[in-house]
Amino acid sequence: MINSNYEKILEKIARISNLGKEEIEKRIEAKKSKLSGLISKEGAALIIASELGISFENEKLKINELIPGMRKVNVVGKVLNVSTVRTFKTKGGDESKVVNFWIADDSSNVRVVLWDTNHVAKVEEGKIKEGVVVEITNASMRDNELHLGNFSDIKISSEIIEGAVSEKVLREKKISEFVRGEGVKVRAFIVQIFEPRFFNVCPECKKKVDKEGDLFICLTHKKVLPEKRAIVNFVIDDGTDSIRAVLFNDAQISVGFTDFENSDKIARIKQELLGREMFFFGNVRLNSFFNNLELIVDNAKEVDLDETIKILEN
Ligand SMILES: [Zn+2]
Repeated sequence: MINSNYEKILEKIARISNLGKEEIEKRIEAKKSKLSGLISKEGAALIIASELGISFENEKLKINELIPGMRKVNVVGKVLNVSTVRTFKTKGGDESKVVNFWIADDSSNVRVVLWDTNHVAKVEEGKIKEGVVVEITNASMRDNELHLGNFSDIKISSEIIEGAVSEKVLREKKISEFVRGEGVKVRAFIVQIFEPRFFNVCPECKKKVDKEGDLFICLTHKKVLPEKRAIVNFVIDDGTDSIRAVLFNDAQISVGFTDFENSDKIARIKQELLGREMFFFGNVRLNSFFNNLELIVDNAKEVDLDETIKILEN
């Protein structure tokens, strides 16, 4: 399941190019390491496909077949969660608009971003709204979002979509396959835990506040009695690679890191967590300071041993 997209691309390259799968995989691995592992196996496969003159253009795809980096994507989906239209100024000083929403089919869902005035107008006029089915052509996958520019098209479709997947889909991935911008689920061991760091937030707006003398100042709420917050960093490892995992409030609670009162308690919790294997759910983001990927954890769950055994037995 995990690599089904990758397998699909591999099949297609093999079929059209007359190269053996082994040869193609060798080229994919070489491409990946040439790019310092910054792209996924799927992404590297797409580059190899394009180098061989093979395109996925003009094929209607299921949403779970969309891969970061794909161009000229055609897809049909039911509209969910339409955002408000935002206006912004372009570099040239012109006013421009952007709106986003999710579309779902029976395989998965994806966030769609409209940049073209004519497309945005369809939302403003209420033609594109929650529940309608749209057909999108010629869009591009940027990270894990489907972007529509001037050359793309979106129109109302009469297709009926049953069993649209509306809950957030997190694909289980290996750390070595992580791509910036995607939501993932990963099963990994906690191999290192750093000392928690603390900062202060405004009790009203929860934004970070700075200390000025003896006072804490929020830009909006002025003098405040701040709330203390912790940030916890792990290194997690799944055998393919390791990555820094960053945990804020809810994520800390989900791993049992709830008490920061004194260093003894912190040491005890660290002791309990170190070496534990868990499922981590979150978003992969680029840490621009270190220029590497990190996982912002939303939630973590115990690995259910019974379930694992059931899967192995089948
Ligand atoms: Zn405030």
